[in-house]
This record gives sequence, C-alpha cells and structure tokens, in this order.
Amino acid sequence: MSDKVSSLIDITERAGCADDAWGDFRGFERITLELKQRYHYSLGRQSRFFIELENRRFFATACASCGRVYAPPRPLCPACLQPTTWRELSGEGSLETWSALHFSPGTNADVAALQTPYVLAYALLDGASTLFPHLLRAEGESLRQGMRLRVAYNEGPVSHPIHLMHFAPA
Ligand SMILES: [Zn+2]
Repeated sequence: MSDKVSSLIDITERAGCADDAWGDFRGFERITLELKQRYHYSLGRQSRFFIELENRRFFATACASCGRVYAPPRPLCPACLQPTTWRELSGEGSLETWSALHFSPGTNADVAALQTPYVLAYALLDGASTLFPHLLRAEGESLRQGMRLRVAYNEGPVSHPIHLMHFAPA
C-alpha cells in the first residue's frame, strides 16, 4: 500500500464549434492524474541480492555441502538440495562468451531503451561456479574470451532491480 500519493488534476474542455448545434454535447473533459506510489515487492529468497545491488555490493550463494557458489544466487543447491548461504563476491570476473543482439524484446522500459546492437555477456565472476548472463556495456572495445569484467552499478529508478547493474570492462 502506498504511503504517499500526490495528484495533479488538469481538466481540459474541448469547445464546441460555433456552427455545431451539438458541439457542447460532444465536448469532453480530460483528467490527468499523476500518482506516486511505493510498493512492497518481494523477489522471494533472491530479494537480498537485489537489495545489495542498490548498496553496490554483489552477492552470490554458496553450498556448504559441495562448495558450489551460485551467481545468480540460488536458495537451494540443485546438486545437493541443501539450503545455501549468502556470500559476497568482489564483482570482478571474466568474459566467457557473448552474443550481439540486434533486436530488443522491449519486455520492460529498461530493455526497450537499449540501443541495438547490444551485448549479452556470460561472465564467470571470481569465486563463482556458474555463469552470470547480463548486459555488457563495452562500446568500442574488442571483446575476447577471458577479458576482465566488473559489475558496474546503475543509479535508479529502474523498472526492475536487475537493471541496477551491468557488466563493464575492468
Ligand atoms: Zn551443493
């Protein structure tokens, strides 16, 4: 539930034409509302990952049984089915593979705003066992497997907290 709502009401009337006997009837009023709302939103057991992105910290999860480290985080180790625990990583890693995309699916405002072509990178972050797919902003750089990357943090607001980060050359 929102804790703050502000409204701007702008009523516009269209005047009827002088030679139109029904002009007033055809007129309309338009109301523009500007709402500001705060939502309480859960991303489940991954919520801490997104909260820490806002704090410019990068977290993975680790399995105490087999030692695998998951980035993106997983609440359960898929190999052992054991609950994992949070572990902070440096946010640095290496580029394993990538795709240059010439079409933006426009699934939300942040993705729709991407200029094509853009690069979807699979990064192996230092200390992680899994690949992390995300946007790589490396305009003008020639990409090569193994090149060093880092997590770069974006200022909000964003339409989804995953857009609080992207990859950049280290
Ligand atoms: Zn495990």
